Order: sequence, then structure tokens, then C-alpha cells
Amino acid sequence: MTADKSTAGEWRHEFDFIEFVRQTAASSGRRDVTHGIGDDCAVLQPPSGEHLLVSSDTLNEGVHFFSSDTPESIGHKALAVNLSDLAACGASPLWACLNISLPRLDECWLRGFFTGFMRLARRHKVALIGGDTTHGALSISITVTGHSRRPLLRGTAQAGDLVAISGQIGSAAFALKHRHHPAGRALSRALQWPQPRLDIGQTIAPFASAAIDVSDGLAADLSHLCQASGLSACVDLHAIPVHPLVKRHAPNWPALVLAGGDDYQLLFTLAPSDKHKLPPDCHVIGHLQATANNSPPVRVLDNGRELMLQTAGYRHFQ
Ligand code: ADP
Ligand code: MG
Repeated sequence: MTADKSTAGEWRHEFDFIEFVRQTAASSGRRDVTHGIGDDCAVLQPPSGEHLLVSSDTLNEGVHFFSSDTPESIGHKALAVNLSDLAACGASPLWACLNISLPRLDECWLRGFFTGFMRLARRHKVALIGGDTTHGALSISITVTGHSRRPLLRGTAQAGDLVAISGQIGSAAFALKHRHHPAGRALSRALQWPQPRLDIGQTIAPFASAAIDVSDGLAADLSHLCQASGLSACVDLHAIPVHPLVKRHAPNWPALVLAGGDDYQLLFTLAPSDKHKLPPDCHVIGHLQATANNSPPVRVLDNGRELMLQTAGYRHFQ
């Protein structure tokens, strides 16, 4: 890491922050960045013969995070949710742009935010290559770019495919709902420090038939995949991997698991003949079939009994 020449308490305007960002981001080690931060545009060398994948996500205070969250966790999560979209497409990350709107130039907060952001960026070899810094309500918008030989999409699943999921579902929604409960605090890492499943995305990319990341809720995101593929899903509630604390402390755990969001695990489909290729942290939870007249896109069975689902998931405008 390049030494940060500015010391705490010295920033007077946004150019002091941008200079700090430029110095800190300079040592990404990526040789495909010809020119990073400092000019009107970054100059980049895309990998030859591969697809470039681009995705953006915005986080607003009061909607996506609380003002009481640590700046480190906000910086981490802002990048993590973006990298999760690359993971869902089976891509490897390359570069990121960071657009940030700030109510004031709070140097201590910004250093914390940047520590969380850069730690995750370094872990996944993402170069920060530009952005914008403006005055306004606290809002963070990130654009990430990745590359892939075989991008995974939502609309390419086949009837008869298995539905699989990585990791555990419902921990983040539980932590959000029970923030002051000891079990909620025990699971708060899932909410504040989600880990983008780039490992899983790259492993399944050669054989999965479709994929999506679970950000809005399992049922809602699975319906998006089903609708894009023109199919219906049947899921076994008890096959969904759920943390034991969630099952023990939330009598309504099926609702948290199906309709809660912020999991950032990967939901994907595969041919039954590829089941032996499933990575260790992944489980089959159901299968896809042709859509029958008037049947919902997702049916969930609880010991053979069909659950009535609220599949809408999170919506910004109701
Ligand atoms: P311009 O007015 O030409 O857009 P800026 O002063 O906004 O230039 O930015 C100067 C340089 O700093 C540019 O390379 C820009 O991409 C970068 N930059 C500005 N804000 C950020 C930020 N929040 N994160 C990363 N890079 C930034
Ligand atoms: Mg600018």
C-alpha cells in the first residue's frame, strides 16, 4: 500500500479526500489499469477474447444501512453487494468506480469507510479506478466491471433442472429484525459484512444453467429467475440451509428465509447429471418444471403441504 501522506484532521475540501483515495488505491497491482484515478477518464485494457460484465448498485442511508453502522462495515457492504452481482454472473472482478455523496467531509468516517472498502477490494484484486465526490445526503453508488468466458444469466434454465443455493439463508433478515437480541447480534456479521460468493460463481460457471444472487429474498429472486426462464420452481422448505439460531429464535423462520433479503448467496440451477459438481457449501433445494396455467412461479412445500407465499420481496416503491 502506498503511504498515505495526509494525516488525520487535515482535510479541508474534497480534493484532500480524492488525493487520499488516489494514493491508497494506486497499488492495486493490476497491470490492466493504464491510468487510474487522476485524469478525466481511467484508461483500461480489457482482457482479450472474454466478455466484459458491468453492474451498479446504490446504498442510501436509512434505506440500505443505518447511521449507527460502522463506516468500515458500510464501505465493505457497498462493494460487497456490487461484487455479488458479478459473482451471480460467474465473473471475475476487474475494476470499480465509487460515486459518493456526503453531507460533510467527515475525515474520520471517510477513513473508516475507505478501510472497509479497500480491504475487500484487495481481497478480490479489484482496482478502484475512479468515481465522483459530491455534497448531499449520504449515498454511495458503485459500478463494478468483471470478465468471464461464459457469463451466467437468469433466463437460461431448463425444465427438469435442479435449484441449488450456496451458504445459509435468513441470517441477515434475522439480524435486522432482532438487532437488540443476543442471537441477532451473533448473526449481525451476515447483515453488515456479507461476503460476495465469487468463489462459488466461478466454480459453477462452467456447468450451471442459470444464476442470480439472493438480495431481495429467496422467493422473490427465485421468481425472477423462473420468470426470465419461463419456468416454475418447486422448493422443499426443509432443504433450505438455515442457521440453527434462526430456527431456534424465530418462530416465523420460514417467512424470514423466504421473504427476508440481504443474504447475498447464489441461487442457481443445474442439470441433474451435474449434481456431483456441486461445490461443498451448496445444497439442492428444489427443481424447475414447465409453467402450468395460473400456477405461481415458485411453490414451497413444508412436509408436502404448500405454503402461501408473499414473494414480492423488497420493493423501494410500494
Ligand atoms: P472531474 O471534474 O474531471 O470529473 P474530479 O475532480 O471529479 O474530476 O475527479 C478527479 C479524479 O478523481 C478523477 O480521476 C475521478 O475519477 C477521481 N475521483 C473523484 N472522486 C472519487 C471517488 N469518490 N472515488 C474514486 N475516485 C474518485
Ligand atoms: Mg467528477
